[in-house]
Amino acid sequence: MKYISLNHNSAPTSFKKAVINGLAPDKGLYFPKNEVKLSASFIESLKNIDDFEICYEVIRKYIGDEIPKNKLLDIVKDTVSFKIPLKKIEKSIYSLELYHGPTLAFKDIGAKFMALCLDYFKDSYTSKKITVLVATSGDTGGAVANGFSGTKDIDVCILYPKGKISEVQEKQITTNGSYVNAIEVEGDFDLCQSMVKRAFNDEEINRKIALTSANSINVARWLPQMFYYFLAYKKIKNKKKNIFSVPSGNFGNICAGILGKSMGLPIDHFIASTNINDTIPRYIRDGIFEPNDTQQTISNAMDVSNPSNFIRIQRIFNNDLQKIRKNISGYSYDDRETKETIKRLYNSQHYLLDPHSAIGYLGLKEYMDINKDDVNGIFISTAHTIKFKNIVEETIKSKIKYPNSIKEILKKEKTTQLIDSYSELKEILLNRS
Ligand SMILES: *Cc1c(COP(=O)(O)O)cnc(C)c1O
Repeated sequence: MKYISLNHNSAPTSFKKAVINGLAPDKGLYFPKNEVKLSASFIESLKNIDDFEICYEVIRKYIGDEIPKNKLLDIVKDTVSFKIPLKKIEKSIYSLELYHGPTLAFKDIGAKFMALCLDYFKDSYTSKKITVLVATSGDTGGAVANGFSGTKDIDVCILYPKGKISEVQEKQITTNGSYVNAIEVEGDFDLCQSMVKRAFNDEEINRKIALTSANSINVARWLPQMFYYFLAYKKIKNKKKNIFSVPSGNFGNICAGILGKSMGLPIDHFIASTNINDTIPRYIRDGIFEPNDTQQTISNAMDVSNPSNFIRIQRIFNNDLQKIRKNISGYSYDDRETKETIKRLYNSQHYLLDPHSAIGYLGLKEYMDINKDDVNGIFISTAHTIKFKNIVEETIKSKIKYPNSIKEILKKEKTTQLIDSYSELKEILLNRS
């Protein structure tokens, strides 16, 4: 498969180059050049096919012969290595729990797949040391650190804003041993991100190190997110229409689901559920794309006002707003509604939602109240509540238990370097090479 740039000023390139570069030279997002369709017989028999086989079949045409079959199958197995339950919450409403992975975040899937692809490609790519450099506002850091835990000779540097991520998130970034360099930045997430951007444009660094990013626009992080839509569909035993509500920030997750639908997966409709950073719900409603300043919320992984991946969705629908409206509805919710929902579901169903998943649930309910069809409504639960312990405990007025996997890392001491300027980051990067 070749990948084109959605800015249309770079030549099509291989999957390997797209993974290593992250962004095209013209700064556009990569997108598969050709449409991929699954055969009707594959879709029909999907419910009887082995999970790994499904994921392999879904991804293989996007990679072509750049990774041999057995290797790709191994990568898929290592990526989908944990349970992905579909739990019935109420009549016709299901939660697809994507938070049972190693760092309790749905980003585990994309981060692992990307790490394993990069590991496979690295020897044929460069003799320089590869360093993955990423800024995180929370969940990305842990998932990337864990994703690269088994890869050799790849260095990982993670920048996070001091005091602005949760205890669990910080421990997941700072207790991995020497392959991860956790860098605590005296400042906010924007500062972390601007430092990372500067490093990518720094000639001296680029001469000495092969820098690569592991952010969510990378095709190897984006594409494998299709897996869980297929695996969720496999679990549904009736023939009703399927609706997915996806808590969305940068719109990578929902875009992967939409790509799955374009390949033939029977999904009737998507709901883009956001917090008050509601650029896309407003766009779907009014037809005007107008990002506001980003506002802080309790669902902070979705505090994005200009979602990078939306251009990929526009591409799938040929930029046709009517088609977008036919396939996607958008709803947004504030912190008060989010907390009320967490409290209500906890009290009525004993089901615990994190703030992001609560927004997914709300979007689904709103859509199903308006459209009274008898459908399977599935909302995606994107994070474990322990990641947002304080806000959830305060909301339900009760303590939540640490999962065992977390108890272990909480005992570990954090190792970080505190910086407040770009020159310090540069020195760290150069000294590690
Ligand atoms: C990253 C993240 C999201 C948003 O996913 P996108 O693919 O950026 O839309 C939602 N919830 C949680 C918990 C996340 O970490």
